[in-house]
Amino acid sequence: MNLTKDVVYVDNNATTRVAPEVIEAMMPFLADYYGNASSIHRFGGQVRHAIDEARARLAGLLGAAPGEIVFTSCGTESDNAAILSALENDVARRKVVTTRVEHPAILGLCTALQKRGYHIEYCPVNGKGMICLDRLCEMIDDQTAIVSVMWANNETGNIYPVINLADIAHEHGALFHTDAVQAVGKVPIDLARTKIDFLSLSGHKLHAPKGVGALYIRRGTKFNPFQIGGHQEGGLRAGTENVAGIVGLGRAALLAAENMEEERTRVAALRDRLEAGLLATCPNARVNGNPPSRLPNTTNISFEFVEGESILLMLDQFGIAASSGSACTSGSLEPSHVLRAMGVPYTAAHGSIRFSLSRYNTDAEIDLILEKMPPIIRRLRDISPFGRDQL
Ligand code: PLP
Repeated sequence: MNLTKDVVYVDNNATTRVAPEVIEAMMPFLADYYGNASSIHRFGGQVRHAIDEARARLAGLLGAAPGEIVFTSCGTESDNAAILSALENDVARRKVVTTRVEHPAILGLCTALQKRGYHIEYCPVNGKGMICLDRLCEMIDDQTAIVSVMWANNETGNIYPVINLADIAHEHGALFHTDAVQAVGKVPIDLARTKIDFLSLSGHKLHAPKGVGALYIRRGTKFNPFQIGGHQEGGLRAGTENVAGIVGLGRAALLAAENMEEERTRVAALRDRLEAGLLATCPNARVNGNPPSRLPNTTNISFEFVEGESILLMLDQFGIAASSGSACTSGSLEPSHVLRAMGVPYTAAHGSIRFSLSRYNTDAEIDLILEKMPPIIRRLRDISPFGRDQL
């Protein structure tokens, strides 16, 4: 296989580089300490201890108690587990309230639930991608088992008022879940101060490896396991633990907690410089989303009258890896469901590019993108009859 790793990587909402410190922490559990955490012998016991340490570290990042963390395989599993558990635990309530801009991990499940006879209500968003709060509140009633609203959107970076929404859900006797896959490690989270019942996260979005995630379950919230079998994870998630992955997630959580403030400022400054530079040098470009309430690492920009896919391919020739919409919709020519929900015109939604940065991006990389993008946009508009007519 011909592999390349020379890349200017600005696609961190799709996945992140595993931090060297995380790899270092994981290696012993791949090479030497391969015991089973459920075994009685010391060789298994030390592995159990490593899992406990990782649990405490992740709990620390979230302001949770270690006993409130269940390790899973990914964000999707955590999302599914939370919603299905809520429906199973309160069979009289058959309604789920969510939004039109959730990740397919939620929307796909909701479509399947609808086919099984559940009632799903999708809250719309405004032109900036913010949830219409009045509409959401009207949707929550005594039939609602669970409200699920993401902490931050993977495409625009928009941050939603999940702490307030959890209070509102509870006023109606409903549970509250948040998909915080894009938020954890990027913005401060202190769950002890909230009424959030469930929170999903995924290792590979915060510099831990793929194949490990977690579900926070508030102490006292009823939970029916999604994956049933052995007694691992206190009986809440069966299956022999992905020890190296869990240790890696614990180490990544510690790194995020230690560096969050400094990195938020530095990464946001890089993102802002990139955004301002592109808007200044590329005519007919506009930001999708709500800059006052956005993740520090994300900008989503529409370059009108060009195809996002063509921009991505040309950027790729310079070793720049970005994304149009979310990774799950790349490769399809359908405009992203998030931008459609926001009412972004077709000609702009098609030409949208998401740049999502991380602590590993540098000023020189931003300079390179700022140098390459304007001629790419000019050239694509020149060869597109659509673009020429419009400008
Ligand atoms: N939720 C959000 C907001 C995401 O961005 C993603 C991944 O892109 C997921 C859920 C799914 O996470 P995973 O890939 O770990 O299943």
